[in-house]
Amino acid sequence: MNIILLGPPGAGKGTQAQMLVEERGMVQLSTGDMLRAAVAAGTPIGLQAKAVMASGALVSDDIVNGILSERLDADDVRRGFILDGYPRTPAQAEALDALLAEKGMHLDYVIVLAVDEDALVDRISGRFSCAKCGAGYHDRYKLPKAEGVCDVCGSTEFKRRPDDNAETVRTRMAEYRAKTAPILPFYEAKGLVRRVDGMAPIEDVKAAIEGILTT
Ligand code: ADP
Ligand code: AMP
Repeated sequence: MNIILLGPPGAGKGTQAQMLVEERGMVQLSTGDMLRAAVAAGTPIGLQAKAVMASGALVSDDIVNGILSERLDADDVRRGFILDGYPRTPAQAEALDALLAEKGMHLDYVIVLAVDEDALVDRISGRFSCAKCGAGYHDRYKLPKAEGVCDVCGSTEFKRRPDDNAETVRTRMAEYRAKTAPILPFYEAKGLVRRVDGMAPIEDVKAAIEGILTT
């Protein structure tokens, strides 16, 4: 099973992807995570992407198509993958189609997390994650079970993203509306789109996605 999780920043894509990884053994392919790793490692791609990401704008299609193509060559993706944060432009959607055809892979669903934009700043400003394993949390909606201790790996160190501030979030949302939302008709025409209520509690969103994947 190979899926795309689609929705604006803060819609819950990473949260749901992490649960699908844990429970179904799927592989999460987050271009945002890949780019942040490149920035942290100081690679040439990271150096190019750093300022763009900090501003909330989109990194160039060529760069993200390149890192995604390379990632799709690893064996683990054959277990089934979840694309989280890719594709983000019509050109990326076209490139993905070509890549999948070339590699003999296919897409099963494009699951859209439908959310109310007003909730997103609140979601994003409360977001934090484990500094060791990356498990995602929220100041109010998803706290670790034991205060200050990661549920998954037991680490006591957490981090926040530098681009999770109110100003950058607005740019990221504008980018989503202008460049990412227009890819929906492309997938609708293929009959792949399924919508879930992303405003529901995390466990209910999870159940709705499970319902789609098991039909
Ligand atoms: P995305 O990957 O789409 O940018 P995240 O999965 O990181 O979004 O979610 C953004 C923040 O909102 C995180 O702190 C997460 O814990 C929280 N969150 C995710 N889904 C929900 C939900 N259904 N209800 C409330 N908070 C949520
Ligand atoms: P995310 O982790 O998905 O919120 O992405 C964080 C940032 O990385 C975005 O604001 C963009 O600058 C960049 N980015 C991630 N994925 C893509 C993509 N598919 N296309 C262009 N830029 C991306």
